[in-house]
Amino acid sequence: MAKTGNLSAVLQGANNQHMTDVPIPEPEYGGDLVATEPGISCFQCKKCKAGRYNLCPLLQEITFKYVGGLTRYAKHAADLCYKLPDNISDEEGALIEPLACAVNACKRAEIGMGDTVLVYGSGSMGLLCMVAAFASGATTVLVTGRSYEKLNIAKKAGASYTLKIGGKSPKEAAAAIEDILGGPADVAMECTGVPSCVSTAIYATTRGGNVAMVGIGDPVLEVPLGTAAMKEVDIRGVLRYCHDDFTTAVSLVASGKANVKPFITHRFPLEKSLEALQTKASGVAVKVMVRCAED
Ligand SMILES: [Zn+2]
Repeated sequence: MAKTGNLSAVLQGANNQHMTDVPIPEPEYGGDLVATEPGISCFQCKKCKAGRYNLCPLLQEITFKYVGGLTRYAKHAADLCYKLPDNISDEEGALIEPLACAVNACKRAEIGMGDTVLVYGSGSMGLLCMVAAFASGATTVLVTGRSYEKLNIAKKAGASYTLKIGGKSPKEAAAAIEDILGGPADVAMECTGVPSCVSTAIYATTRGGNVAMVGIGDPVLEVPLGTAAMKEVDIRGVLRYCHDDFTTAVSLVASGKANVKPFITHRFPLEKSLEALQTKASGVAVKVMVRCAED
């Protein structure tokens, strides 16, 4: 009979959490500290067979397939777990998944050595895109945002420039970006999904450059697509990651090429998962940690 004692936070609504006790899953392996890839693809469809399993139309999230992510013990497929070297902490390990997304975004953006990169948005994904862009060979990265606190974190983490955007039209914002960079960016990584920000990214990207759409916005966005077409600016979607992006993310953190520690701004125990989510939703946090392990 399965052992109990597996505390899980079940969030049933915007301000509704209750703690429950579910059976501890029986492990087949165990003992290693791993980063988990939470999506489970079918590995049988055409996209999966072609190696682009991030695009699998049948992909399921671990949070829906099993008891959820906010739990002390969960069972997951071994080939979706990435063993972490000893010099990676559990908190850094928790950031491997979003860093893998940033790695894929840099590949989609085709960032090259010496490139000038505009990162639009100073949330966790923007900051992780910044470190991934540097690791990809970018020499100049400008990070925009609305919060001085988050832009300070970006600056301390290595941003070449930061710019607080607010009250400007997209064309005015693009002009301000070009003033700082001395010209348009080679690549833009748009991490907000907000139409005015996407518009600015298109205006501020050089002819023949790429705009990577990292932020998730509405399915229909009003942006200057004609301007992008006339400049041969390619707008590239970004969805999740594949195996190589995860192993790259682990290598980047283990080697010190990507320092993700400064992005952890808040910590909560499992019992306060709701408070953790509310803190993230309030906009004050970059990365919020929920500690599921018993200390
Ligand atoms: Zn598939």
